[in-house]
Formats: sequence, C-alpha cells, structure tokens
Amino acid sequence: MNSGHGAQIDRKLNKDDLILITGAGGFIAGALARYFHDLGYTRIRAVDRKPLPDWYQRVPGVESLSMDLSEKQNAIRAVGGAVEVYNLAADMGGMGFIEHFRVECLRSILVNTHLIEAAWKAGARRYFFSSSACAYNTDLQKDPNVRALKESDAYPAMAERGYGWEKLISEMFCQEYWAERGLMTFIARLHNIYGPYGTWFGGREKAPAAICRKVLEAIDSGRMEIEIWGDGNQTRSFCFIEDCVLGIDRIMHCDQLIATPINLGSSELVSINNLVSMVEEIAGVKLNRTYDLHAPQGVAGRNSDNTFIQSVLGWEPRTPLRVGMEKTYAWIAQQFADRKLGRRVVRD
Ligand code: NAD
Repeated sequence: MNSGHGAQIDRKLNKDDLILITGAGGFIAGALARYFHDLGYTRIRAVDRKPLPDWYQRVPGVESLSMDLSEKQNAIRAVGGAVEVYNLAADMGGMGFIEHFRVECLRSILVNTHLIEAAWKAGARRYFFSSSACAYNTDLQKDPNVRALKESDAYPAMAERGYGWEKLISEMFCQEYWAERGLMTFIARLHNIYGPYGTWFGGREKAPAAICRKVLEAIDSGRMEIEIWGDGNQTRSFCFIEDCVLGIDRIMHCDQLIATPINLGSSELVSINNLVSMVEEIAGVKLNRTYDLHAPQGVAGRNSDNTFIQSVLGWEPRTPLRVGMEKTYAWIAQQFADRKLGRRVVRD
C-alpha cells in the first residue's frame, strides 16, 4: 500500500489514539486497516460480522473482533474509547447482488444508525461514512454517454432501489448528527472501487474482478469464450483501492468537508467492452464474446465529476485504469491458481 502520500496529512491524531474501522473483514476497510497500521498507528480496532478466518485480510497488531454491528449493544462495545470511527460495514456487492437483495441492503441502515449514535455518545471526534455513487438520481444515468455525476445530482432523489436509498438516508443521519449534535461527520460517495483483496467470485464481485476471473477461466478451460452482462456498451469509471484509502484519509481530515458528501472515484470512463479488451491485452489473449442481455447490468453510464474534490483537496484518484488492472489481474491470477491447488482464497 502506498502510505507515503498519507504521511503528509495533518490528522491531529496521536499514534496511540484508538481508530475503529468497521467492515474490516471486507475489501476496502481491510485495506484501510492495513494503511493506518503501516502509517504507524498502534491502536486500531477492526470489526466485522464475519468469523475471523473468513476475513480477506488480517493485519498483525490490529485488534480484530467478529461482531454484528446491526445489534445496538455491539455498536456500543465497538466504539468504546474510539477517537475516530470509519464505518464501512454494509451488505454489499456488484449489480448481481444489489438488484436481487434489496432487503439485505436496506437493513445496513441498522449498522450506521446504531454506530453513529454510539459514536456520538462515546465522544468520538470524527465519524466517516462510506456512501456510494448508487445514491445518485438514476434518471441521470440512462445514457452510456454520461455527463459525470456531481455532488448536487443526488437530489431530487431517485436513488438505486434498496442499496442507494440506504446510503442516502445514512448520509442524512451524518449531516443531522453534525447540525443538531455537533459530531464531525465525513461522507464519501465511493465510485466502483477495485483492486487486490476484493471479491472475485461467489456472486458479490464487481465488473473488473469478474472480467479478470472470466478471462482466466476461459484460458484455463481452453474454451476461449467470455460472457458479458448486457451489451457491453454500459460505461463506468473504476477507482483503484490505493487511491480509495488515501482519499478516505484526506476527506476525513479536511474540516471544510464536515457533513458534506463528496465524490471519491476515478474520472477515467471506460465501456465494459473496452475493459474486457484491456484485460485480454494484459492476459495476452483474444476471446469470443457472448452477451447476456437479461443479466443485471445497472445504469447505462456512470462517471465521477471530480471538480469538487479537486477544488477542496487539490487531489483526485489518479492511478491509470491500466496500471490498476494489471495489479488486479496478477493478484486474481494468483488466487485462481491457489484455488485450483485447494489453498485458501478470498471469497464472499
Ligand atoms: P465488502 O463487502 O468487501 O465489505 C463490507 C463488510 O461489511 C463485509 O465484510 C461484511 O461482512 C461487513 N458487514 C456487513 N454487515 C455487517 C454488520 N451488520 N456488522 C458488521 N459487519 C458487517 O465491501 P467493500 O467493497 O469493502 O465496501 C465497503 C463500504 O464501501 C460499504 O459500505 C460499501 O457500501 C461502500 N462502497 C463500496 C464500493 C465499492 O466499489 N467496493 C462502492 C461504493 C460504496
């Protein structure tokens, strides 16, 4: 993890202040725990409802607890003594997951609701919530030649059913805890994060990981064929995990951003067809393509408008997609090989 840039951020935090990171058995929060650990923070508490052996990453020296944070008492236990709280716990997955499990997605509201109340009562100094581009009005995303989404595009609200509405309401909790109760809250709208230690099979994986896996399967089986969800013309931007954790750190420690949702995503737009071509190039193959027009494919197009983050932080995620995809493909190729050998791998 590139923690070098993170060294310059003024956090007003002692190295032994307690940092709570929730959802830490998963992809982004696991990387965030490693990031703060590598920066020299000595008291990190990582919480996830998954049993510890199933966590994607376990960081040595980090206190790791398996607890369901939708239970109020667990939320209270988790925040005890924490100076900063990073809430990344949510039931979540790619389009295949969030279109089919809306109730599960909506129920994540319990996590944020209990955690923010507990954090406020316990006197935490800063509270971070990971929102999503799915909070944006879906009517603005019906054309693959998208206009990038800017922060004001969430209202009038027409969020993604289930998952997106949960994010929007939890954002509002964060804003009102600041307005009425003075808890400093920070809200990043994450746009499609990808990279090593992300889910790559099992149903919750997102397009970059799914495409890497499908290319590997095509090579491995010798069938040299890939199935694409939709017509492949849908467009997205994908943000590399190292940019994401650095962005979370920067946003959390910028007082100008208190209670102000901000995009955290890449502005490099790509169609799914071109993403497949990129992975083919990385793998050194050319595959026959088939299209499943009935598969979940989400909105037609989505990109992150980074004008606001640039103006406030003078920074935006900048790892080129090709560079991030090379690292991701290499990691998934290793996982693929390990799975074949019966070794333990990351899964949902
Ligand atoms: P992830 O599924 O890898 O991690 C989320 C973790 O939260 C999981 O390990 C899960 O077990 C845990 N969790 C769920 N419910 C819980 C509960 N009740 N108590 C304790 N733990 C619980 O997902 P991720 O990609 O790392 O996403 C992290 C956060 O970022 C989520 O809030 C997600 O909505 C948000 N986000 C992610 C993306 C992305 O592209 N990955 C995009 C937008 C927003």
